[in-house]
Amino acid sequence: MAMKFYNTLTRRKESFKPLKKKKVGIYSCGPTVYGFAHIGNYRAYVFEDVLCRLLRARGYQVHQIMNITDVDDKTIRGSMDEGKTLSEYTQPFREVFFGDLKTLHIEPAECYPLATQHIPQMIEIAEKLLRRGLAYESEGSIYFRISKFPEYGKLSRMDLEQVQSAERMDQDEYEKEEARDFCLWKAAREGEPFWESPFGRGRPGWHLECSAMSMHYLGAEFDIHTGGEDNIFPHHENEIAQSEGVMGKPFVRNWMHCKFLIVDGQKMSKSKGNCYTLRDLLQKGYTPLAIRYLLLSAHYRSVLNFTFSGLEQAQKTLERLYAFMKRLRDHRTRSEQDSSLEEIQAAQKAFEEALDDDLNVPQGLAVLFDLIRSLNQRLETGRLGQKDRKVALKFFEDANKVLGIFSKPDGALDQKINQMVREREGARKRKDFKTADRLRKRILELGIILEDTGGTVRWRRKLDGENL
Ligand SMILES: [Zn+2]
Repeated sequence: MAMKFYNTLTRRKESFKPLKKKKVGIYSCGPTVYGFAHIGNYRAYVFEDVLCRLLRARGYQVHQIMNITDVDDKTIRGSMDEGKTLSEYTQPFREVFFGDLKTLHIEPAECYPLATQHIPQMIEIAEKLLRRGLAYESEGSIYFRISKFPEYGKLSRMDLEQVQSAERMDQDEYEKEEARDFCLWKAAREGEPFWESPFGRGRPGWHLECSAMSMHYLGAEFDIHTGGEDNIFPHHENEIAQSEGVMGKPFVRNWMHCKFLIVDGQKMSKSKGNCYTLRDLLQKGYTPLAIRYLLLSAHYRSVLNFTFSGLEQAQKTLERLYAFMKRLRDHRTRSEQDSSLEEIQAAQKAFEEALDDDLNVPQGLAVLFDLIRSLNQRLETGRLGQKDRKVALKFFEDANKVLGIFSKPDGALDQKINQMVREREGARKRKDFKTADRLRKRILELGIILEDTGGTVRWRRKLDGENL
């Protein structure tokens, strides 16, 4: 059965057929590096990671490009406030971003191009649009002329009146022909960084970079473009206008968008103080994989309500999963009773079908946990044969290649740490402070921090760059 993905453009699930037989080109809108990304951003990156992992598991060679926005109003303002160059200002945020991706077990994209390194490609698009009458110059800035692109609005299905008012909210001081027209190139302002161009000194508008870099790395037409649902309008609508305006043909086969993440039923916002970054959660002692699990456990096309109790639940679920995996790995039996094979194979099929059906992760997880329940009973009563055990183990490991929610070395290390923490607690109770201290030092050498919270000791991994 072919894989099916929901296409925002057609509002339908469609069978997936890549342009090239076994290769898939994916462009994912990446972060603006002016601060730490929040968990809502990471929901989208985790969704994209599962998508890429699934395609790889189905034998495709995936070529994923994720841009890094290192020039826009926010990065410029930040760098000017701190008296730094753009690059000096964005560098630490870029590093933290890549560190966070690793922490969340997100497999790296093939390439993370920087906007500031693709200015010539952006200028080229603006020039072509000018030549085609799809753009115009006004006071040194270049604007896209929406009235010349009748298909504008086809992705977001906004009617033009809505577009007018939405664009008016995006106020700026320049003179446009029409309020809804958007900026391709902004004329340089006093004190701001700029690049030379045939239209004078200036800098690109935000939307232009994604058209330029996606076409540069993936060609004029490619398979999948992803992002958060907030990217649909105006960002992706404008990307379509720019790219299709230049090439005169469809640009992306399948648009996939991940829904919002809300916190305790409320929209995330800095003023509410519920805009959590990954470090906020790690500092509270939650494990990276529990956070990843929570982010992928809801279907990507439904709103995810993030709560701390949900995160605790995720942590417990994973502990049960790890315990099961350990049991399955260590289980030794002479039983030849291989009577679970059918059940395991049915689960395998159901899991694959769930994932292939527009990435239905919650359904896939339900299949895994049903099988775990059943196999646990067999393990308890010694009714799981060696052959079945191996087939089951292989299935869970394959499923994990797509989900990335447990990892062998981590699990082993966690157990070692738990053991040492218990030994240290025992030593403290015996008032053997020398041993307790020695254990504390060894634990710290493993990059683990112990925290005394109301009589119970919890541990967490030291964060990158954290000084003690
Ligand atoms: Zn983008």
